[in-house]
Amino acid sequence: MVEELYFYRLIIILAGVLSLILSVFSYFKLKNAPGARPYIIVTLLSAVFTFSYAFELAGTTLKEIKFWLGMEYMVMPYIPVFILLMCFEYVGIKLRQRYVFILFGPPLITVFMHHTNELHHLYYVSVGLLADAPFPIADLEYGPFFYVHSLYLFLCLAISIIILLMQVKKSVFRFRIQLLTMIAGLFVPIFANFFYLNELSPYGIDLGPVTMSLSFILHGIALFSFKMFNVRPIARERVFDNMLEGVIVLDDNGAIVDFNKSILRVIPSLSNSIGKGIHKALGKHENLAELISRREECEYEHVDEAGSSHYQVRFSRVENTKGVLLSNIITFVNITERVELQRQLTQFANYDGLTKVCNRRYFMDQSAALLKSGTRKECKAALIMFDIDHFKVINDTYGHEAGDIVLSEIAHLAKVSLEKQGIIGRYGGEEFIILLPSKEMEDAKKLADKIRLSISNFSASVGGKDLRVTASFGISVIQNPPSNHVEAINNAIREADQALYAAKNSGRNNVQTYAEVQLA
Ligand code: GH3
Ligand code: MG
Ligand code: MG
Repeated sequence: MVEELYFYRLIIILAGVLSLILSVFSYFKLKNAPGARPYIIVTLLSAVFTFSYAFELAGTTLKEIKFWLGMEYMVMPYIPVFILLMCFEYVGIKLRQRYVFILFGPPLITVFMHHTNELHHLYYVSVGLLADAPFPIADLEYGPFFYVHSLYLFLCLAISIIILLMQVKKSVFRFRIQLLTMIAGLFVPIFANFFYLNELSPYGIDLGPVTMSLSFILHGIALFSFKMFNVRPIARERVFDNMLEGVIVLDDNGAIVDFNKSILRVIPSLSNSIGKGIHKALGKHENLAELISRREECEYEHVDEAGSSHYQVRFSRVENTKGVLLSNIITFVNITERVELQRQLTQFANYDGLTKVCNRRYFMDQSAALLKSGTRKECKAALIMFDIDHFKVINDTYGHEAGDIVLSEIAHLAKVSLEKQGIIGRYGGEEFIILLPSKEMEDAKKLADKIRLSISNFSASVGGKDLRVTASFGISVIQNPPSNHVEAINNAIREADQALYAAKNSGRNNVQTYAEVQLA
């Protein structure tokens, strides 16, 4: 029997050493990791408690036993609180300092009640030595406050288990193992206490200190081997869900394994799609389904009530060490800003800032492209040039800013009249140019007259004044141009300019064609 006690004491000392090693190890290896501090403290407290218990068992007199019992109670009541704090930190819940202080209230009272027991006997009704044991061992008759302390201890462990279980529900498989290891660690002292309190342990020996070390090993496994503090599950969940990029994870058969919140903005139909095939889950997004089946980096435009957004769709394969495909990760990177910026740059580069029509260079490029696209046989086009009459007077009388307003209004009028029959550009100053593909001279004349009339009937209201202007028009045509389309256009511009010059000379506010000017 006495050998049994020695053996048990040896195990307790080993458990104490183990707790101490875990504490020192985590102090040096995990000092700055989030959540490590409660673990370092709790393992240290556990070591002190366990060694004190070993001394208690070695005690030969009641006085000695009481002394070591007192030592145990200096540290033990705080252990469940530190376990609870560790679990809170583990799942990423930050407790306010106020609540942390409140949590330490009951253990402080326990310590006080334990040390003043002689005065009130509320913790132990009696403390003596077990009469029928082969070695001196404390015989404790518990008072009501002992049960209050026990209840608090259970409560702390129960809350710890509940918050970990809640996290299990939200986590992916890999992190579930870590969480379950943590939970298993919490169940060990609960079982041990159950044995102890129901007097199922031999001679009322407290199994707590040994089982506590065992549970800290499980916690340690969760912490160290799974690198819980470094890549905490909560961090993974948050990073994954708060990523701006939408992510879909598919298994090797194309079934959806996981996705994050961001992707729901692009494909709302993905919610509740875990386990479904990606193509089925995409529902009405048929063009996206096609892009995805190609597995090539591409751009995708998503349009909803909020407007259009652009995404770059990337694919990455996840393979095992033997190169076997495990999963495909599809990432949607929002590039709306970049696309919008590109659109603006193109706008700046190709369009005139004041009048919003094509600038001269872009007009030339577009015209050449339009001519090229016409079939060789019936490749024809008409070209209109118009210039505002006596525009200098507007500037000189009402100022340059008023001139600007008139200029942009005139450009707008011309654009509206043109509809989609051709393209319009600002040739320079207050001179505009229009190309009408596949149009005859007569069509061009009609359009030029339409624009001329709309300008002469229009009055721009600037600073409370109505400003009116007219414009003169010159027209030329391009018939079966040679292969050099740019030269054909330049030639047509020269001819239209001559016609425009004639229009200026014949009283302004009229339309002249090059053909008529030649004949005159
Ligand atoms: P004409 O009937 O012979 O064309 O007479 P005009 O006064 O229109 O011709 P002129 O070439 O003498 O003057 C053109 C004027 O257009 C001079 C210039 O200051 C003005 N102009 C050119 N570009 C702009 C512009 O962007 N804004 C403003 N406000 N004025 C401009
Ligand atoms: Mg002019
Ligand atoms: Mg001019």
